[in-house]
Parts: sequence; structure tokens; C-alpha cells
Amino acid sequence: MITVEEAIEQVLSRIALLPAERVPLLDALGRVLAEDVISDIDVAPFDNSAMDGYALRYADVAGASEDHPVTLSVVEHIPAGMAPERAVGPGQASRIMTGAPVPSGADAVVMVERTRADAGGGTAGGTVEILTTAKLGENIRGRAEEVRAGEVVLIAGETIGPAAIGLAASVGHAELSVRRRPRVAIVSTGDELVAVTEKPGPGKIRNSNSHSLAAQVLEAGGEPHVLGVARDNEQSTRALLSRCPEFDLMVTTGGVSMGDFDVVRKVLEEIGELDFWKVAMRPGAPQTFGTIGGTPFFGLPGNPTSTMVGFEMFVRPTIRRMAGFISLTRPRVVATLTHDVKKKSDRRYFLRARLTKGGERGYTVAIAGNQSSALLTAMHRGNCLMSLPEGESFIAAGTEVMCIRLDMEEGTA
Ligand code: AMP
Ligand code: MG
Repeated sequence: MITVEEAIEQVLSRIALLPAERVPLLDALGRVLAEDVISDIDVAPFDNSAMDGYALRYADVAGASEDHPVTLSVVEHIPAGMAPERAVGPGQASRIMTGAPVPSGADAVVMVERTRADAGGGTAGGTVEILTTAKLGENIRGRAEEVRAGEVVLIAGETIGPAAIGLAASVGHAELSVRRRPRVAIVSTGDELVAVTEKPGPGKIRNSNSHSLAAQVLEAGGEPHVLGVARDNEQSTRALLSRCPEFDLMVTTGGVSMGDFDVVRKVLEEIGELDFWKVAMRPGAPQTFGTIGGTPFFGLPGNPTSTMVGFEMFVRPTIRRMAGFISLTRPRVVATLTHDVKKKSDRRYFLRARLTKGGERGYTVAIAGNQSSALLTAMHRGNCLMSLPEGESFIAAGTEVMCIRLDMEEGTA
């Protein structure tokens, strides 16, 4: 049996970055940028007002206050989207809206709340009383404040979030070059499996793994392709596993332990190459990895929580590496264990657990329910995997333990 770290290293040594593709802006969300994004214009393209108010010359209002207002004549009304036609001279102001270009001659904007309009509403042809002083440049947003024409706005390797999409739009990019989403084939194995829409007959259970896995693939940034169920014979298993090279990787569940009908490993050795099939961990020691036609293949164990933990430890980093993400490890936090744990000393344990704020180290942690790998509720209720090291067989309440946060993305803490 190899360790979890050895297994991750073996897997990642086989994984290559996927090529880039150009996609419409919104499709780039959550993906890794493959090329720098350069601006075609200054943003903002012109000096503009940060407030609804009056554009004026700050020297004109040097002594202005509520009790001693300065009266200016209003020469123009400038809504957003309009180019000013009149310069602001001494003793003059232009009524200006947020985002409208600042007229020449003006060097400050006083917000409308600090002014008092005349009976005509303080618009062009009338007057306005200014009730405050202004600083040079106050409430004026400068041209090219965000970026200059020709400058890089977004850097290759960055993850595209909503703000990056807004930036790309503001500099004229309707499409972005991003890493392709890994296409992940999902195959469940087992004669006992029926579809979610069916009521299981005698000896049958519903296929839940295809669904939890598809969700994990989506969350990891991949594109799930659920191929269906392989029955527990070599012919059926071979038929689906041989489709592995049509995708960027394939994940199967079940059929990898020591049972009489566990044929996945056998078929993998026949049509592909086996790298390892057992990792010193619990849940889910029979983690199988290899390649079929050069394409990575993961044979995850069948128990629903073993499947999900195996995905988390080995498949998720693979998908992220292919998709161009630099950070491949989830945030970890040390927490104080609130109860004793007994374990087998020969393997790493990943207990489905819940971190809570509190205690000396900032967090306490407790298991989130029954730890049977056949059950999913503790995985659902928990927010972390409590990682308990090999070599230990008893961990006492009060011990500081390492927890892998499943509620936070890689590189976010
Ligand atoms: P196996 O490794 O094939 O012996 O499967 C281990 C356990 O996981 C058995 O109890 C299976 O019934 C269960 N199992 C296997 N595949 C699935 C699946 N797709 N959905 C839910 N449970 C499964
Ligand atoms: Mg099975």
C-alpha cells in the first residue's frame, strides 16, 4: 500500500494541462485565463464626475459655507453620455450627473446635497448656491484611473470571477481565451444498481454515486459525462472502460475490492495500464489509478462516502491541474478534537467532521455522524475531512488535529 501523498504525486506526474479555447465572456466564469487581456482604450476614457452635483472652479468656493453660500451661474446641464459644450469660467458652474464628462475649466465637483438650487431648479440659465468649500479634483474620477490603452488588465493564470468579466467587458473583450474544462466520463459499476427514478426491487439499490460524482466534477470545474452503469462482468465493464480515451479522464465507482465480481482492475490491466490499486487510507483503501490509451483512469471504491473522499483526494486535484489552476490543495486548519477517536494505525483516516469556531486554536472539530463509508449523511453534515495520521491508534479529546476544509476552495485561505 502506498501513502496518500505518494498516490497524489503519482497521479499528478501523469497529468498535463489542457489546451486553451476562446469562449464568450460568461462561459469563462470560474476558469483559468490562458492569455493576458489587454485594454484597447483608457478606462475611464475621460475625466468624469463621481457625484450628481455641480462642476465648478474650487477657487470660487474657497470661503463657502451654509451661512455664507457662494452663488454661481449655471451654464450647462450635463447628463451621463453627453459631451459638454460649454467651459466653466470664473463664477460659473455646470450641473453634472454621475459619470458625465467634466467640462473644461472645472476642477472640482460639489455634490448636490451641499448646494441649494434657485427657483428654476439650479439648471442651465439659472443659479445655484454652493454651501461648502471644495478641494482641487474633488469628486472627479480621472481618465485612465483603471487602466491605460495597451496595458494588461487580466493576467494569464488568473481565475475569472465576476469582476474579471466586468473588466474584460470594459476593455472590449467579448470573448476570453481560457483553459478547457476537463471532460470527465463517469461510470458506475454493479449488478445491484437501479436508476434514481426506480423503486429498488429485491437486492437492488439506487445508483447514487453517478450523481454525487457528477456534482463533484462540476464543483471542481470539470464537465461531467455520465456514461451509465457497467454490470459486474468483463464484457460490460470493458465496453464502457474502453471509451476512456474519448474524454480527458474517466472515473468509475465500485468493482475494485476483493469480491468475486470486482472486475474493474482486471479490465484496466487488460486494456490499459495499472499504476496503483491500494492506498493506505480510510475510507476507501482500494483506490485504483492507471491509464487507458494514455488517458487517466480512476477506479474509485463503491461505498458512497469512499467514492466521494477518493474523488476529493485524487480526482479533484487532477481536474484542477488539467484546468490550469495553480493551487491544488484545499485550505487546512488545525482544530481541537472534542472527543476520543480510535483508529487502525496502518492508515490515514479522513473522518467526515464539522469544524466550529471556538477553543484555544480558534476551531474545535467533531465527527459529523456515523462514519460508515456506506452512509452519506456525515459527509453532507460535515464541512471538513479530519485527517488523522498513520502510526496513531488512539487520539484523545483535546488533541490538535489537521482538518481539510471542504467548504473553501483551493487557494482561498
Ligand atoms: P463494490 O466496491 O462494488 O463492492 O461496492 C461497495 C458498496 O458500494 C456496495 O455496497 C455497493 O452496493 C455500493 N455501491 C457501489 N456502486 C454504487 C453506486 N453507484 N451507488 C450507490 N452505492 C454503490
Ligand atoms: Mg460492485
